[in-house]
Amino acid sequence: MIETDVLIVGGGPAGSACAWRLNQHHHKALILDQANFPRVKPCAGWITPAVFRHLGITPDDYPYGLTRFSSFKISLKGFRFTLPTHQYAIRRIEFDAWLLERAGTEFNNHRVKNIEIVDGRYIVDDQFSAHYLVGAGGTHCPVRRMLFNPDKALKKDGLIVAKEEEFAYSYHDDRCYLWFFEDKLPGYAWYVPKAEGYLNVGIGGSAQGLKDRKVTLNEHWDLLLEKLEDEGLVTGHDFKPDGHSYYLRSKSPQFRQGNAFLVGDALGLATRDMGEGIGAAIQSGILAADAIANHNSYAINSIPRFSFPSLIGLRK
Ligand SMILES: Cc1cc2nc3c(=O)[nH]c(=O)nc-3n(C[C@H](O)[C@H](O)[C@H](O)COP(=O)(O)OP(=O)(O)OC[C@H]3O[C@@H](n4cnc5c(N)ncnc54)[C@H](O)[C@@H]3O)c2cc1C
Repeated sequence: MIETDVLIVGGGPAGSACAWRLNQHHHKALILDQANFPRVKPCAGWITPAVFRHLGITPDDYPYGLTRFSSFKISLKGFRFTLPTHQYAIRRIEFDAWLLERAGTEFNNHRVKNIEIVDGRYIVDDQFSAHYLVGAGGTHCPVRRMLFNPDKALKKDGLIVAKEEEFAYSYHDDRCYLWFFEDKLPGYAWYVPKAEGYLNVGIGGSAQGLKDRKVTLNEHWDLLLEKLEDEGLVTGHDFKPDGHSYYLRSKSPQFRQGNAFLVGDALGLATRDMGEGIGAAIQSGILAADAIANHNSYAINSIPRFSFPSLIGLRK
């Protein structure tokens, strides 16, 4: 049996940020992840300036490819305008591996299947034992599934289904495009140029909204590809998209059960307007680590529920 103080299930931004902060508090932690890093994570990779602040760095300190946007090209139900803003995009394959390495925490490539509580300790797959358990396993986190009550409200209203592809492409337009509620999509689509000649295009929408409108995400995906082609943004590319789902922030998520904590997508923290989840994952990971190290309560009220204030500079 491998014994540790804190067992973190999932080495994405939430788990890595938690481990990084625990390391600063000199707490022994171990990360378990079913994937080896660098790993692919379907994500547009848009991040706000606050992400760097939470990580304690400036954008100039980030060692991998970073795109800087001084405006977004927006289409809102077909009405087009340019929104001045100050945002960034990373490639998740680089960003997540960098966060994990930076955490400086022991890592074990392991897929968590079973969790038991024995004499106040969390026993995972009869192999790992810890006093604290952090569920950072994303949308299908086993910690949430096995130790927390199912949140029906989260499932009904907050489930976002998304499809995207990131690929090498010599794009000629380096601006970021966002289409909101285009063709009655209950969500938005994006075109995000990345550093070193990569492009990310995708689409995400409310699962319930699509069901209510009796349309599928695939139908909207096809409309997006037509638009990209028509506008000359992407031509002649044979798309092979990946699908994924995640939860928007619910009103009162259950985030702690004894010494088990949920962070990031395992908790469902993406902003309600833009589905921005990277910042919330990092912030919640840090808050959970502080609560463990300082024996404080774990509160998530400081994590923004909406992204728009930061887009227009109302929140730094
Ligand atoms: C298509 C798409 C586009 C998005 N675009 C953006 C964006 O532009 N900006 C933004 O801020 N957010 C975006 N998001 C949301 C963002 O990707 C997530 O909120 C973020 O990845 C959450 O991080 P996390 O660490 O909680 O989870 P994840 O990054 O999902 O990491 C969870 C980790 O847990 C591991 N794991 C899962 N199950 C197990 C198990 N049983 N045992 C061991 N390990 C396990 C996984 O391998 C994974 O590495 C997007 C999401 C999607 C789907």
